Amino acid sequence: MRVWNFSAGPSMLPLEVLEQAAAEMTDWHGTGMSIMEMSHRSKDYMGVRDEAEADLRALLSVPDDFAVLFVQGGAQGQNGLLPLNLIQRNGSGKADYVLSGSWSVKSCEEAQRYGDIRVAGTSGQAWQDQGKEWAPWTWFPEPSQWDVRPDAAYLHVCTNETIGGVEFNDIPKLDVPVVADVSSNILSCPIDFSRVSVAYAGAQKNAGMSGIALMMIRKDLLGHAMDLCPSAFNYANIEKQQSMFNTPPTYSIYMAGLMFKWLERQGGVAAMQARNAAKSEALYGFLDASEFYTNTVHPAYRSRMNVPFLLRDQSLDALFLEQATAAGLTSLKGHKSVGGMRASIYNAMPLEGVQALIDFMTEFERRNG
Ligand SMILES: *Cc1c(COP(=O)(O)O)cnc(C)c1O
Repeated sequence: MRVWNFSAGPSMLPLEVLEQAAAEMTDWHGTGMSIMEMSHRSKDYMGVRDEAEADLRALLSVPDDFAVLFVQGGAQGQNGLLPLNLIQRNGSGKADYVLSGSWSVKSCEEAQRYGDIRVAGTSGQAWQDQGKEWAPWTWFPEPSQWDVRPDAAYLHVCTNETIGGVEFNDIPKLDVPVVADVSSNILSCPIDFSRVSVAYAGAQKNAGMSGIALMMIRKDLLGHAMDLCPSAFNYANIEKQQSMFNTPPTYSIYMAGLMFKWLERQGGVAAMQARNAAKSEALYGFLDASEFYTNTVHPAYRSRMNVPFLLRDQSLDALFLEQATAAGLTSLKGHKSVGGMRASIYNAMPLEGVQALIDFMTEFERRNG
């Protein structure tokens, strides 16, 4: 029996995708072997890789002057690899960071080991807006307030803060290249590559399984790595070798490829954007109408992917989680830094799963409210 899995990552995959992987597990397309037993340099595997890249390019309309890389080290690996590859791009050794929650703070802290890092904007303090006070990390610093050094090698932002449940995709056009951590909202909506010069994402939330980061990077930003950057993590080397400088996580690339095909069958990114809007609107609408549950994120910046919520009576948290699990709704416990609950509703979660959660929450409130 399959459950509705609300895990923040790794997270649920479409049953269709898992069933295809299972059917192809021991004999991929009549080769008599599994993808994971296949040379990464073989014609068959190169075909799998090439198709994954082509499909990702098509789904996100990635322009030709961008490279698409499958990089190891996950998303957090890039926190160090990005400065190693980019911070000396213009010789300045400077990079600026917008802080909007746990993940962007982590990225910024790691980068400090490699250069002169400055905070361009932060939501790490309370903000008065709409006649209310919004707590730190429950809103997003507006671009008009960003203070970006003109000689910064890049500006880093995180477009979806997975832990806080804060999302912001309206990146402005800047002279400094914008690097975006899109780990938890990639392929859930379009990316404007005239404004974002590097987008990267661990694959395990919206695009398959762990093991790789997907990266779209404007080609002119390649080739400026610091001498001490490991060769296998020099993005220019990775691009030159078509993401096979060394043996890549072949199965992770294959699984991402199956996810891309599934996304195409759903109607692509535009269809996912509409579906994700419907899912998150249903859940936020329910939370806002309730006296029993609450979401504390500023409405303009609520994530369509990760919906944190609190029970007003927190002594019911354990009971809520126990009964949710028994009802086949799993992994709803919120991150320890936020508390309460979190429903992660990435691409693979259908509206039906969100509706099942709302039905359970309605019934739980009726019994305990
Ligand atoms: C999950 C996540 C990460 C970390 O990903 P890893 O692949 O585990 O390193 C980084 N940034 C964001 C926004 C995330 O959601």
